[in-house]
Amino acid sequence: MNSKKMHKILLYNTLSREKEVFSPIDKDEVHMYSCGPTVYNYPHIGNYRAYVFADILKRVLQYGGYKVKHVMNLTDIDDKTIRESQKEKKSLKEFTEFYTQEFLKDIKSLHIENPTKFTKATDYTPEMVEIIKKLLDKKLAYKSEDDSVYFDIKKFKNYGKLSHLVLENQKENAAGRMSRIKKDEYDKENAQDFALWKAWDSKDGDVFWETELGKGRPGWHIECSAMSMKNLGKQLDIHTGGVDNIFPHHENEIAQSEGATGKQFVKYWMHNEWVLVDQKKMAKSENNFYTLRDVIERDIDPVAYRFWLLMANYRTRVNFVWEALEGAEIALKRLYGLYTALGKKVGKINKESQQKFQGYLADDLDTPRALTILWDVIKDEKISDADKKATVLDFDKVLGLGFADLKEKIIPEEVLKLVEEREQARKEKDFKKSDELRGKINSLGYEIKDTAEGQKISKI
Ligand SMILES: [Zn+2]
Repeated sequence: MNSKKMHKILLYNTLSREKEVFSPIDKDEVHMYSCGPTVYNYPHIGNYRAYVFADILKRVLQYGGYKVKHVMNLTDIDDKTIRESQKEKKSLKEFTEFYTQEFLKDIKSLHIENPTKFTKATDYTPEMVEIIKKLLDKKLAYKSEDDSVYFDIKKFKNYGKLSHLVLENQKENAAGRMSRIKKDEYDKENAQDFALWKAWDSKDGDVFWETELGKGRPGWHIECSAMSMKNLGKQLDIHTGGVDNIFPHHENEIAQSEGATGKQFVKYWMHNEWVLVDQKKMAKSENNFYTLRDVIERDIDPVAYRFWLLMANYRTRVNFVWEALEGAEIALKRLYGLYTALGKKVGKINKESQQKFQGYLADDLDTPRALTILWDVIKDEKISDADKKATVLDFDKVLGLGFADLKEKIIPEEVLKLVEEREQARKEKDFKKSDELRGKINSLGYEIKDTAEGQKISKI
């Protein structure tokens, strides 16, 4: 497929609220930017949905024959990193470096490929200052009494085009300006002039830059505008993030970038939906979150979480429960088992299945239906084992489930069947049969533990 581009890929664009045919600005290379983590603690698994989504998107484009330059930022300076590093009495650099390394380990365990480049916000302050100066020149920004710089949202006529916000409903002050907000995060009900540059105050401690704008630090939103345009040019093909980023973060990125360059900043804005817990958004503030450490503590392979996410479209909300993740892990191990039973020979890709697989992915990354094709191929009696193997390996270029390097993860089909039978026996309260089956499973070299979430299988 690499020599020829997949003829039509449809992607849902938040800007138009429609699926659009993807067509990159530069035909040879797609320029894509993803808002990365703020490295101030361990991200929760809900946060990782954004990175699994961006990874799948990038892989689909590559599978479709495109070369992709993908940049992801690491926010190592904002209100939260400063506050938390001070609590731990560490320098900002030492503090954020620790969580950066933890993030890198986590994404590896989720089989998320590293982007072409990671960018750290603190490496780009000169570029941020340049953009802010331009905005001041164009009178799209102004200095406040304390020497901070704010974006004047009323002066930017397209403000609200991404979040479909109507500014008329927002309050103005006596001087005819919107009220101002210095904080990095705020809600849509209160669209306000936001800080591009925050003049130093004592709460910032030793975190500041001496620049032409004075002593201070950048606001969060300007960081992404500077990092993306420096590395990918003034116009990007795709910008991704979670739906939470639409307002204010991405709306503000548009205002800053388009205000400075006069050009359309991003062609396709793409956003993934939330992961819920008990029908509420998984969030630090709700204290209803889990991290990958919790997943590993329960003896679940993190890649099962990737697999579980792929069972839903990225634009639908998913409700996380441990039983579902356990179920996903069992299903994934079954796939691993069926795959390894195919033998060593790798044949030819089954074209008919590949076409269906591509067709689903090209329809706004329909991973749930693409996964059904994976199961169909593995179970299809008309396809030879060697061809099945080649086809699964081809699909896995996008899915990233790790078929190519399976070793320890495989549980033989024979054992999985016994586990299923035992599940049934337990449901029917046939404990004699359940114990017999446990004995059989042990004799095949596996042990089984009954937990609140179901049966856990491991090698003896
Ligand atoms: Zn961002």
